[in-house]
Amino acid sequence: MNKKKVLNHGFVELVEWMGGDDAVIRNARRCWKSTSQGAASDRKLLKHLLTKGHKTPFEAMVFTFDIKCPLFVARQWHRHRIGSYNEESLRYCVAEQEYFVPENLSPALQDRWKKHNEACFALYEEMIGVHRLRREAARSLLPVGTYTRFYWTVNGSSLMNFLLLRTGRQAQKEIREYARTILKIVKEIAPWSFAIFQEFFLDSGERKQHEEKI
Ligand SMILES: Cc1cc2nc3c(=O)[nH]c(=O)nc-3n(C[C@H](O)[C@H](O)[C@H](O)COP(=O)(O)OP(=O)(O)OC[C@H]3O[C@@H](n4cnc5c(N)ncnc54)[C@H](O)[C@@H]3O)c2cc1C
Repeated sequence: MNKKKVLNHGFVELVEWMGGDDAVIRNARRCWKSTSQGAASDRKLLKHLLTKGHKTPFEAMVFTFDIKCPLFVARQWHRHRIGSYNEESLRYCVAEQEYFVPENLSPALQDRWKKHNEACFALYEEMIGVHRLRREAARSLLPVGTYTRFYWTVNGSSLMNFLLLRTGRQAQKEIREYARTILKIVKEIAPWSFAIFQEFFLDSGERKQHEEKI
């Protein structure tokens, strides 16, 4: 469901979700003892909630993504504490030989990049298979571009914080690609909330000016 390719071997897939714009509106309107007031009024409410920092109603949306990304991207991702993670463990599993290759390398550099990674994987596999070294120790031979997989369960409010920080120009290009892919996916689930969020936070003139100053 909604599986999107990112980088050379990665992807983002939305595997499950709860709630959408309706859930946010329902929860928010409890504050005024009211219910949905029609499209125009409900959209105005969402804008009010987002721009005034009344974020808890967006916690009524919860998403679980299956993510495959390089370890160096996962390391940045897992700094986002408001959410839940379950990752394949290299104590228990043997890493697959899949590693990040940057775009636009010359053929000669690409060749050297691949040889280096393949040599690391060959020694890793030899240590485990031939020398019976523990997987948890052998993994230290792996490059940080090795792909990992994890599930990420996150609510709408925390996801917006992630998107704000990780779609910006100051974030690393590779995690930005994941963040932008996620934004596209959630805009299909909760189009009003995430379109308003994008307009007022991600694409705002203020943000662009701030980024230009950095
Ligand atoms: C461009 C960029 C560069 C970065 N560079 C570095 C770096 O060089 N070194 C480095 O270590 N990190 C770096 N980070 C990571 C950054 O400091 C945050 O850890 C990360 O972005 C997660 O953000 P967060 O804390 O808002 O998210 P979450 O952990 O999901 O938290 C969400 C919100 O919950 C609240 N919160 C959560 N936990 C606490 C708490 N313990 N106390 C108070 N409030 C809390 C805060 O309001 C927080 O914004 C970088 C991040 C970005 C985007």
